[in-house]
Amino acid sequence: MSSPNTVLPSYSGKPSLIAAVPFWGVHLVCLLVFFVDFSWGAVAVCGATFVTRMFGITAGYHRYFSHRAFKTGRVFQFILAFLGTTSAQKGVLWWAANHRIHHKNSDLEGDLHSPSRSGFWWSHLGWILAPDHEETQYSKIPDLAKYPELRWLNEHFLVPPTMLAVALYLVGGAGWLVWGFFVSTTLLWHTTFMINSLAHVYGSRRYETNDTSRNNLWLAIATMGEGWHNNHHSFMNSARQGFYWWEIDATYYILKALSWIGVTWDLIEPPARLFEEDTQLVEVVALAE
Ligand SMILES: [Zn+2]
Ligand SMILES: [Zn+2]
Repeated sequence: MSSPNTVLPSYSGKPSLIAAVPFWGVHLVCLLVFFVDFSWGAVAVCGATFVTRMFGITAGYHRYFSHRAFKTGRVFQFILAFLGTTSAQKGVLWWAANHRIHHKNSDLEGDLHSPSRSGFWWSHLGWILAPDHEETQYSKIPDLAKYPELRWLNEHFLVPPTMLAVALYLVGGAGWLVWGFFVSTTLLWHTTFMINSLAHVYGSRRYETNDTSRNNLWLAIATMGEGWHNNHHSFMNSARQGFYWWEIDATYYILKALSWIGVTWDLIEPPARLFEEDTQLVEVVALAE
């Protein structure tokens, strides 16, 4: 782990109370699982809202909005944005703009969440809770900021998760609300955040990218394909992050199936050179300094 001194000087390194109180508040509410009536139905709802919203993050926020890895129509574009926004990870344009900055400066000065430069916990959640990056950098995302419906969603990013929480409560009562929203959202946060932290620390490296990105099967399962992070940093525009058939990538399978019925198209595939070159593991590292 890095010491606090390695936090990049341009960052405050201090969480803002306005962000930290609701963030940890959602974690605390999860403890209500011990007080609401238990049902397997509520646990199933938790799984369903986790998987559906993870798809919104991986297919939407990440592969589509950040990287334009495939094409789709304006209606499905909005559906992806809405779905991603229900995961309570701030606005779609905010997320995608910051992610583009991550790729531009991976593990270099200017990377918002580099575990090797700024410490594991900063890369996992500190950067989200700090006041440094609250504004959406529209200049990084002009291709999508031109859509008024996306700008509206980006500015009113609390509306979709609130709608989800209210709907769960109205349909299934307190049990569905606690499991389907609070537990699911907390799990979703930390699995997503692990791509910024753990996927730059633990796993194998097939490609000698200029960063610390790693491939990790367990993370790939938990995040529907995002764990092939070294693959992803080697060619970030690919709609597919599991480059080989054995590299499980659930998000890609769904995007591919959607392309068969015309909802998505022009899925960008990894270039042949990535398969022709010697792709032996470069190194396997347990924990970074
Ligand atoms: Zn990365
Ligand atoms: Zn990316």
